[in-house]
Amino acid sequence: MEQCLEFKNVDLTYHTIHAETLALKNVNFKINNGEFIAIVGPSGCGKSTILSLIAGLLKPSSGEIIKNFSTKNGIGYMFQKDNLFEWRTIWKNVTIGLEINKCLTEQNKTFVENLLKKYGLWEFRDRYPSQLSGGMRQRASLIRTLALNPDVLLLDEPFSALDYQTRLNVCDDVYSIIKKENKTAILVTHDISEAISMADRVIVLTSRPASVKNIFKIGMDSTLTPFNRRNDKSFSTLFNTLWKELKTNEKT
Ligand code: ADP
Ligand code: MG
Repeated sequence: MEQCLEFKNVDLTYHTIHAETLALKNVNFKINNGEFIAIVGPSGCGKSTILSLIAGLLKPSSGEIIKNFSTKNGIGYMFQKDNLFEWRTIWKNVTIGLEINKCLTEQNKTFVENLLKKYGLWEFRDRYPSQLSGGMRQRASLIRTLALNPDVLLLDEPFSALDYQTRLNVCDDVYSIIKKENKTAILVTHDISEAISMADRVIVLTSRPASVKNIFKIGMDSTLTPFNRRNDKSFSTLFNTLWKELKTNEKT
């Protein structure tokens, strides 16, 4: 498999007027094209910082990040809040990236139209975000991200604002869309079950300053939905292993 991203001995220090915060210390990992990676770690350890580095919003204080994708449209971001604009229709929301980048061509419009049709939002294109359920809003937000056809999707705790039942459904939706569209995905979460139910590999971080504590291969059938993966016989063993790994969060 072709490598799409590598972190080599990456350190990141935030500088503010009052303090210096060492967020990442000697972070190393590699990601292949088409992989679904979950990053788990204690709150405040540096997970979002890793995504900002991948997106190029931050530069490493030392070390190197090797990217094998174009950074212009190469990255798509999905956050905890769907960040839909309440005063714009769903169509106007999902095409805003194309509008800003001045590439709302007929071809791109057709591309977005097909995404909306494929993922059950075409009938809602003239509605406003407040008229959609939480799950549909997250799907619209994902389609807005996919409209720019990024190589890599960065998902920063995208389900944590949803109630449990919605969350399980949206998880299945988002997973199937990412697989169908053949994207590399990096999901940050503090939910171990979510990580196991979606990822090919799970990167466990230490507490701040984060370094990679361990990387687990999940090895479940990737054609299973995240919901069905939760019933897989290997699920509870993996859960216990990851739980222990996170609980003993001393540095290695
Ligand atoms: P996580 O996403 O794992 O909760 P973050 O990556 O957001 O953690 O943050 C890691 C650490 O860096 C935290 O201690 C946080 O307070 C600090 N931090 C994050 N962003 C900034 C910033 N812009 N300036 C200064 N410190 C920051
Ligand atoms: Mg975060």
